[in-house]
Amino acid sequence: MASYRCKYSLGNERYVQVNEWKGELRVDLREWQGDKPTKKGISLTLMRWKNVVDAMEFVDQSLGNKQVYNAHLGGNVYMSIKAGCVCVDIRQNWKPKDDVVPTKKCLCLRPAEYVKLKELIPDIGKNLPELDSVVPCYLQSDHMNQMGALQCSECNPNDFMNW
Ligand SMILES: [Zn+2]
Repeated sequence: MASYRCKYSLGNERYVQVNEWKGELRVDLREWQGDKPTKKGISLTLMRWKNVVDAMEFVDQSLGNKQVYNAHLGGNVYMSIKAGCVCVDIRQNWKPKDDVVPTKKCLCLRPAEYVKLKELIPDIGKNLPELDSVVPCYLQSDHMNQMGALQCSECNPNDFMNW
């Protein structure tokens, strides 16, 4: 059974919470129905969550300029703004064969929900001191040459075994 350290409302029965399960910490963004979590949502490793936080200034710029945006959070998980859309979509894709397709593991944050999430970053951080020691893999020494990134399941999720 997973336990959680904190749970904050984003509005519209959507919550962000820090989960601890089998010793692993995750940041979960999810829609709930009453006291029950639904399948609509996504659970992020700390590295991917750190990439969300780090990308927010670029998300803000893109929203302000009404530009499309796509950030690779690691593995097949992306945070994006689509053309003509004011929502921030955090989504897991999947590669069944040749094409990479979106899955239902996602949460498309409406503008007010995204703003709320951004405001909650310091509170989430207080419950997640471990985040300070998380270094995104692309900054780690084995990624200093291109081969390191090509062989990394976070950076190159669909082809990392082919190198
Ligand atoms: Zn990597």
